[in-house]
Amino acid sequence: MALNLIFLGPPGAGKGTQADRFAQAKGIPKISTGDILRGAVAAGSELGLRAKAIMDAGNLVSDEIMIGIVKERLDRPDVSAGFILDGFPRTVAQAEALDGIMAGRSPLIIVDIQVPDAELVRRLTSRLICRGCGANAPEGLLAGSPEAASARCGKCGGEFGQRADDNETVVLERLKVYQRNTKPLVDYYQSRPSFCAIDGAQAPAQVAAKIEAAVDAAAAAGLPGGTGR
Ligand code: AMP
Repeated sequence: MALNLIFLGPPGAGKGTQADRFAQAKGIPKISTGDILRGAVAAGSELGLRAKAIMDAGNLVSDEIMIGIVKERLDRPDVSAGFILDGFPRTVAQAEALDGIMAGRSPLIIVDIQVPDAELVRRLTSRLICRGCGANAPEGLLAGSPEAASARCGKCGGEFGQRADDNETVVLERLKVYQRNTKPLVDYYQSRPSFCAIDGAQAPAQVAAKIEAAVDAAAAAGLPGGTGR
């Protein structure tokens, strides 16, 4: 059975970090719609030009565009053993479209990472990513710290910096957008047997262990349906 996962949770909950870890451990691709959009912005493509102002304001790119991107991505052969979606779905319309895309495939396992708002603001306004490849900075390397200026990315040697949308004004807007558009997804999914609620307000290694245990249990529960894709 393929391991088809979505990671839900507010911005700053640790979805990207945990999805990276889990994807590596299981040998399946992590698909981050935020990374795809940032790549398009950096490349100056038509998608990037349309998405940039929306992302800079902390708003959501249209469902139509996002569903098209994910549909195309999930048609590639590298998802045959499974995938992790990070940052998608973000609206109920996206979740409904994803259910359509998943017809005939192994059922989704939903990992919802929960963290209180005050902790999210603290994390987002101090986090750093590599300006070259987008990887997260090592744990504990924070924006504004003396070490941050001279540190270099372990993957590509790039410098670290803050994401354009990680300033306090945009962070507060993104949290509002999350409450309005994305939180309803918890209601959409939580009655499914494969829904896993995870306390994300702990050290990353502890969160990772909880995710691993919850996903293993959900996968072993022999979820109904699916053809193994
Ligand atoms: P993220 O890296 O997941 O925090 O995404 C960064 C930004 O990309 C978001 O604030 C949105 O503007 C946009 N974005 C990413 N994924 C989606 C999605 N599924 N639907 C709409 N907008 C998205």
